Amino acid sequence: MGERVFLGVDLGGTNTKFALVREGGEVLESNAIPTKAMRKPEEVAHDIAQEVERLLQIAREQERDIPALGIGIPGRIDWEEGICYLLPNFPNKWHQVPIRRWLEEETGLPVGVINDVRAITLAEKRFGAGRDVESMAMVAIGTGVGGGIVLNGELVIGQHGSAGELGHITVEAGGTECGCGNRGCLEAYATGPAMVAAAIRAVVQQNDTVIRDIVEGDLNRVTTKVVSQAVEAGDRVAIEIIQRIGEYIGQAVANVYVTIDPELIVIGGGVSRAGEPLLESIRKGIKKRLYMVPWENVRLVRAELDMDAGTIGTATWAKERFDKGLIG
Ligand SMILES: [Zn+2]
Repeated sequence: MGERVFLGVDLGGTNTKFALVREGGEVLESNAIPTKAMRKPEEVAHDIAQEVERLLQIAREQERDIPALGIGIPGRIDWEEGICYLLPNFPNKWHQVPIRRWLEEETGLPVGVINDVRAITLAEKRFGAGRDVESMAMVAIGTGVGGGIVLNGELVIGQHGSAGELGHITVEAGGTECGCGNRGCLEAYATGPAMVAAAIRAVVQQNDTVIRDIVEGDLNRVTTKVVSQAVEAGDRVAIEIIQRIGEYIGQAVANVYVTIDPELIVIGGGVSRAGEPLLESIRKGIKKRLYMVPWENVRLVRAELDMDAGTIGTATWAKERFDKGLIG
């Protein structure tokens, strides 16, 4: 029998990513296919199984052995049974979709199912920013705000798989409505779309900002990258937007400190590429709220694994579930 490798799948609203991952976290082969999420879940799952089959073929040709695959789901799941309950960013929401059973039947492999950001957290713990710590919390800021918690070197799942849903910490009592049904969740304030909306508002309100110049007056061209560019150019309006978001994240992170007192906070997701100004504003936000932990011991860093974190994490989840005899 050849080297063991695990297959990681990261289901996204736009693209689904795949990778063959070595036990040490190294990606051997990767690919992405369009999810076309407007279709029936059965059709999406079938496409995933087909791409899995293609990668299995490649692994077989290289005389590698694939014991299991892992899939990351952007939403609420029953992680043990592998059933999707709610994928908020998918047009048909995937209520009661038995993704684990479908993929096991079609690929013949044992399947481990995990929330997508919990998978990223696991990858950062094993191979990235958190590899030297026993406890950490991850905040991933993108289209939504995801999170994950590691204690005693292991991912914390919780009774319902909801441990680490840091995007749904309330940061503004009675505030803006959140997709989860609550009001004032972090996710209602600190996402990429929230950043873009604030930037568009500033331009429309005739504020003095270089954002208008960067997009040549075309509001459709405002992205998080544009806001980051404006921050780099020292634009006061863009800096204020980043500071407000950082303050909300900092407030949530302060709550995490008094709950689990971790060694490390890892900030990931597309919006984290706004870089040091965002991190600095998060640090300020934490400092404003945190009195129970010595401030000099707060360690806040950016995620290290970037684009491959999702597939490395799901492959690692599959490996760990498989080795413990929990799948297969
Ligand atoms: Zn919420």
